[in-house]
Amino acid sequence: MKISEILNNNKVTVSFEVFPPKQWDKIESTKQTVIEMCKSAPSFMSVTYGAAGTTSGFTTEIATQIKQCNIEPLSHLTCLTSTRDKIHQVVSELTENGVENILALRGDIPQGFEFPDEQYFTNAYQLVNEIKSINPNICVGGACYPEIHPESKNRVEDIEYLKQKVDCGVEFLTSQMFFDNDKFLNFVEMCRIKGINVPIIAGIMPITNANQIKRSIELSNCSVPDKFFRIMDRFGDDPDKMKQAGIIYATEQIIDLMANGINNIHIYTMNKPDVACAIMNGLSQIINE
Ligand code: FAD
Repeated sequence: MKISEILNNNKVTVSFEVFPPKQWDKIESTKQTVIEMCKSAPSFMSVTYGAAGTTSGFTTEIATQIKQCNIEPLSHLTCLTSTRDKIHQVVSELTENGVENILALRGDIPQGFEFPDEQYFTNAYQLVNEIKSINPNICVGGACYPEIHPESKNRVEDIEYLKQKVDCGVEFLTSQMFFDNDKFLNFVEMCRIKGINVPIIAGIMPITNANQIKRSIELSNCSVPDKFFRIMDRFGDDPDKMKQAGIIYATEQIIDLMANGINNIHIYTMNKPDVACAIMNGLSQIINE
């Protein structure tokens, strides 16, 4: 089933992200993680793609496992360091394994990277065009940034490029993580004003240990409200307390988004089934439609 159909049925959706292992010998244990997570019945599940594309087979393997659990998989695919041939190969493998949905991404620019030649892609919109040219039936999503992509000059430029990407055939957007709901709600409003009308899924990262927040801010460039720092100050040194506080913060964030009319939530689970399950339990009546 296409993710666009799941998102466009006017119901609340809560989906999960998982990442594949870095080494093949860990693939079975990641599959077990997926099986465990599927018990929480997410609306769909996405699986990330290693930046250099060298572990693309791992992504396909995990996406296939998700499909075997009767949950719709969304496979990520990055293009910056992949040739056109490699993109064709990965899209074919995904299609052969029944994966109908791809999140088309550029990937981060490695330090000292130089764009080699026309066999390569420079931005995600080109990957969207390529996937659609290989198989127009694949449902393609894209990434968006409520607090602006770190390379963008300003919000206006960022949203103009986002519109270009959507106009190439992106059917939904998944947002970068954020901890301040007002930033996301303002961003959605700006997108609508600029004519971006596809579903925009709110990306929520439950912070369940103190080290995670530093890394998350570095990666995403997102702002963190004072309330969150106070939680860290009080509970950051106690893993159990911090985990519980992080789960509750993420759950409250989701409830507030829903109260503001947002129906589509994506949880960056960090491959932690217990965390994903605890959030789903905290929302059990709210998402029961
Ligand atoms: P683009 O849409 O190409 O945007 C990148 C930058 O280029 C932006 O500043 C944009 O404004 C600008 N831009 C866009 N079009 C143009 C144009 N025509 N001309 C000039 N500038 C332009 N990374 C991974 O390696 N693997 C993953 O699995 C992965 N999953 C992700 C999932 C989500 C939901 C998100 C938000 C990010 C993910 N990333 C992943 C990280 C992502 O690859 C990086 O954030 C990357 O820097 C940008 O990717 P993009 O697809 O948004 O790129």
